Amino acid sequence: MAHAYNIEVELTKNSNLEKVDFNNLKFGQILSDHMLVADYDDGEWKSVKIVPYTNLSLSPATSALHYGQAIFEGIKAYKFADGRVSIFRPDKNFERFNKSAVRLEMPELPEEIFMGGLKKLIATDSAFVPPVDGASLYIRPFMFGTEPALGVHPSKSYKFIIITGPVGAYYNKPLRVKVETFYTRAAAGGVGFSKNAGNYALSLYPTRLAQDEGFDQLIWTDAKEHRYIEEAGTANLVFMLGDTLVTPGSETVLQGVTRHSIMDIAKSWGIKTETRDVSVQELLEGIEQGNVTEAFAAGTAATLTPISEIGYAGKLYKLPAPETREFSNKVLDYLNELRYGRIEDPFGWNFIVT
Ligand SMILES: *Cc1c(COP(=O)(O)O)cnc(C)c1O
Repeated sequence: MAHAYNIEVELTKNSNLEKVDFNNLKFGQILSDHMLVADYDDGEWKSVKIVPYTNLSLSPATSALHYGQAIFEGIKAYKFADGRVSIFRPDKNFERFNKSAVRLEMPELPEEIFMGGLKKLIATDSAFVPPVDGASLYIRPFMFGTEPALGVHPSKSYKFIIITGPVGAYYNKPLRVKVETFYTRAAAGGVGFSKNAGNYALSLYPTRLAQDEGFDQLIWTDAKEHRYIEEAGTANLVFMLGDTLVTPGSETVLQGVTRHSIMDIAKSWGIKTETRDVSVQELLEGIEQGNVTEAFAAGTAATLTPISEIGYAGKLYKLPAPETREFSNKVLDYLNELRYGRIEDPFGWNFIVT
C-alpha cells in the first residue's frame, strides 16, 4: 500500500553554523544543525521528522547494542560555484542500504523516506555544505534495531536516522598498506557486501596491529586461502595492471559507488577495465616487474587515495610516485570537476537538491 509521508521540519533555535571554519575542516568532527528521524514499529514506518540535532534516549536493552542489527551509508554533497547543492549518486546508496537491510533481516526503506528525506534534510542544512574546493558535506544515513528486549530475534522496532556534517580530506597522504594473511574481514555467504556496523568493529584490532608495524591500513584477502586481494578497511582497491584497470571481483567485497564510477569513467575514455580475482602473487610480481603502474583506494570518504607501498611477509613493495600516475590524477580531477558542477554531467550522477 502506498503511503504518503509528510516530513515535518522543526528548525533549531541554536544554530552551530557560526562556529564552523570551512577552511579548516577535519573528518567527522562537526555535525550540522538538523537530523532526520524515522521510526518503524508494528510493521510500518510511522513518523518521519526533521528535528534539531540532539541526543537519543534508549533503553539499555536496545536490541542493536546486543545483537548488532545496525547498518549505515556514506554519501557526499557538494556546493557548485553558483550556490546549488548536489548529492553524488544517492540512488546507489539507497539501493545498497536496502540490500544491507535485507541481509540483516531489517525492514527496507521506502524511496520516499530515504531519497525524499535526504533531499529535504540537505535543503534544510544547505548552509553547512562547504563553499570550498576539496570539502563537502558528509551524509550518514543509518538504521538500527530499537526493541527494548533481550533474546536473539529480529527487532520489532527500528530507527532510521540521517545526520550530516561538513568535512575536509579523510586521508591527506599516500597510504602504506599491509596485506593481511591471518585475520579475515568477510567470508562467502557472510555479510561482507553489506555496510553493517559489525564489519568495522572486527576490522579495528587487526588494523591497529598493522599500524603498530607502521602501516596506515590493511589490504584484506579472501577468508579461505588469503591468496586473493579483497579491499582496504573502508575503501575498494583499484590497480592499473599493464594497460588494464582492474578491481577485485569477489562477492564479499563491499560494492563501492566510487570505484564503480571510476571504472565507468575509465570505460568511457576507452580504457580496458576488468572486475576479477587479483591474487597477491599477481599484484606483487607485477609491482616488481614494473607492470603495476598505479594502485589506489576508492571510497566516498577517501575519494581516491594513492597507495605508495604494500607490505607482505616482511617485505615492502614500492609503487611509482603518486604524481607520475597519469590515470589516477586525471580521473580524480575529472570526478572533482563533475561533482562540483564545473563540467557537463554526461552520466547523470549529480542529484541537484537546491
Ligand atoms: C563504504 C565502503 C567502501 C566504499 O564504498 P563507496 O560507495 O565508494 O563509498 C568500500 N569498502 C568498505 C568496506 C566500505 O565500508
